[in-house]
Amino acid sequence: MEPLIIKDDFPDELFHLSASELADYLKQPTLFHLKGRLDKPLFFSVLLHGNEDTGWKMIQQLLKKYTKTELPRSVSVFIGNIHAAKYNLRRLENQPDFNRIWQFDSDLPEYQMAETVYIEMQQRGIFASVDIHNNTGKNPFYGCINRLEVDFIKLAYSFAEPIIYFQQPASVQSNAFSKLCPAITLECGQPGSQAGVDFALNYAERLLNLENFDQLPMPDKKPDILHTFATVKIPPFIDYAYENKNCEVSLKSDLEEQNFKIVPKNSVIAESKVGMPFVITNEKQEDITNELFYEEKGQIKNKVDIIPSMVTLNIDVIRQDCYCYLMEPFEY
Ligand SMILES: [Zn+2]
Repeated sequence: MEPLIIKDDFPDELFHLSASELADYLKQPTLFHLKGRLDKPLFFSVLLHGNEDTGWKMIQQLLKKYTKTELPRSVSVFIGNIHAAKYNLRRLENQPDFNRIWQFDSDLPEYQMAETVYIEMQQRGIFASVDIHNNTGKNPFYGCINRLEVDFIKLAYSFAEPIIYFQQPASVQSNAFSKLCPAITLECGQPGSQAGVDFALNYAERLLNLENFDQLPMPDKKPDILHTFATVKIPPFIDYAYENKNCEVSLKSDLEEQNFKIVPKNSVIAESKVGMPFVITNEKQEDITNELFYEEKGQIKNKVDIIPSMVTLNIDVIRQDCYCYLMEPFEY
């Protein structure tokens, strides 16, 4: 079976299909190249995570506006993990994570597919890349970039502030496309919210109508950037849940409310019967758990003030991805 389908038209049927209906219609992940007045395409990837449908809804609404008029610029859309979307899952058990395949460092068909998408966009002289996600915890809308060049900062500032800057995981789509053009990952809140779709749609239309990056505003004052410097995981052999003292580790559910806020040092993060359950790694993949967290009488606390992101109450997401990320203000 072909791992990727490439099309140069967008059938009307697609305007009526939800993310979970795409697999039966498209059969395979599909890349659409749609011609507009300016040649260099604006590229969107959606549904790299099958349960995050804001990007797909946004694309339907964006393209609907141009069914009778010419697109101001060519648009390419990659619709990623439709097979997981059918079941409203981030990925299927037997699949790699579609937002961790963009270093093309495996012979698996998903990695080959990602490389084909990348080469297609490189050959077309891609203008900018926008990868659209949701997250499961309570987070504000935010944009992530992997380079600190001025066009990347403008691209992110036009979406939201603070801007998030990270280098790990390096195998994400936006990091790969950063070698070709200004590239961003959008985090549009939780799936199913019309506010997230509207916010992304407004942003996408502004980008679509840009002739060049000089037209994007740069603020007088440097935008605030938060640097994601650490990833917090819980090893799979540990038995954990939220607010459940029967488990080895009972996580504190109020941390979800602290995403993007400062959690003062010595706050209780979890209660544990098995010592330190968390493994925190920095961007070099070094274990820095002991610099940040400590255990005291069965409680896990933070040694320093922390700013978490992506804390979620969804245990499956914690298992498939991570517990949270830690950020720090970035001086530049
Ligand atoms: Zn995602």
